Amino acid sequence: MKGGEEELGRVAGAVVVGYAKILQELHSQADKRPELADTIELHRELLEVQARAQVSPCRAALSGEEATERLQQGSPLLPLESLALDGQTLAGLCDQIGSIVAESRPELAEGLGRIRAWLDEKREQIEALAAEYLREGRVREGEGAGLDANLLAFIFNNALRPLLRAQAQALALSVDDSMWYRGRCPICGGEPDLAALERGSGRRRLLCSRCDSEWTFHRVGCPFCGNDDPLQLAYYPSDDQVYRLSVCERCRRYLKTIDLRQVAGERLLPAERVLTVAMDMAALDAGYGEG
Ligand SMILES: [Zn+2]
Ligand SMILES: [Zn+2]
Repeated sequence: MKGGEEELGRVAGAVVVGYAKILQELHSQADKRPELADTIELHRELLEVQARAQVSPCRAALSGEEATERLQQGSPLLPLESLALDGQTLAGLCDQIGSIVAESRPELAEGLGRIRAWLDEKREQIEALAAEYLREGRVREGEGAGLDANLLAFIFNNALRPLLRAQAQALALSVDDSMWYRGRCPICGGEPDLAALERGSGRRRLLCSRCDSEWTFHRVGCPFCGNDDPLQLAYYPSDDQVYRLSVCERCRRYLKTIDLRQVAGERLLPAERVLTVAMDMAALDAGYGEG
């Protein structure tokens, strides 16, 4: 990975935590959370592959004025059409990710095998498939071919992450939180998959499910559908009050949240995403959806 990756890119609010820090955090949590040993190991392997990926050089950062203009218009800074997707790198990452997950989850190996074979056939079109995933959060052609939609999305999400993270790190400097306050990522337009309530201010920060950017959002309200009617919003705190599962009855989506006011020391949101997988299970079991 390129130099400078290890540091927090933090200027006017947007943040992308470096791979080494996430890996270190997962490593230190592995001893404390034996019930998560398999999950942590799987994600450490994925992170190591992503950290080693050769991603295309970052595009030149936008000028301050261009960034301000885009944010004020409600447009994420990274226009997806300008993303330099390198097909060969992407195909390689998809295959490696499929193989790592199959190794760790034998019950998924068959479905993953089908996906890898299909992606191999579609090698020439992988950039178009990835672009569709970024636009719509799914790959229809693959679903039409009978592939598992969630696994396919997981593979594309993880294969695209190194590229999107590199772009996000270059652009994080251009993001002024106070001009955004939207439910989607100011950099890549992705949806959040975790939130944090900040120590001191109690402000809510969201983590992008795709590029790992973090940005400030309204304290109350559903980032997915914009619902802010308290009668249609609820949350379920953990016994120790550190975590809460926020749900929206209008769109039936959920958001995992960590309350940083309840914990001592630093917590890294990309690591917390992994450490809270039980909350995903609980939300899905209760009929709330990811997408
Ligand atoms: Zn993003
Ligand atoms: Zn909603």
